[in-house]
Amino acid sequence: MTRSKLIAASDRLDAFAKDSGFDAQPPRYITGNFNIALHDGEILYSDEAHLYCADCATSLQRRAITLLGPQSEDDHFIYCADTSLGEDGPVYCATCGVTLDYQLTEHGCTTELEHYEENPSADISPQELRDRTHP
Ligand SMILES: [Zn+2]
Repeated sequence: MTRSKLIAASDRLDAFAKDSGFDAQPPRYITGNFNIALHDGEILYSDEAHLYCADCATSLQRRAITLLGPQSEDDHFIYCADTSLGEDGPVYCATCGVTLDYQLTEHGCTTELEHYEENPSADISPQELRDRTHP
């Protein structure tokens, strides 16, 4: 599949997802990193490579600042991640697993289309997918 056909297919799949009511929120990250041992043996960990939905980022940031002290507020802000470089696969919140907004690389787009063709969704038939991506 040529790059222009991949982009057209991706745009049509995005439109299909939005028309179906799916509207992914942008991925967020927490600046800096923390690695806090909790009393129950768990570790509260985050670094800038971890991506979260808004609720999970806020909850984790608040919890870390509570444990680290108010002076840590200057080290741990929440920012939206730059998605322009693309991802080789879907992006999910590191805490709750909700799908976040992302752009696929050419490799990621090809891989996702191949995966779909091998594992069709119950919500859209392979014929519908072909009709939507190859008008
Ligand atoms: Zn989440």
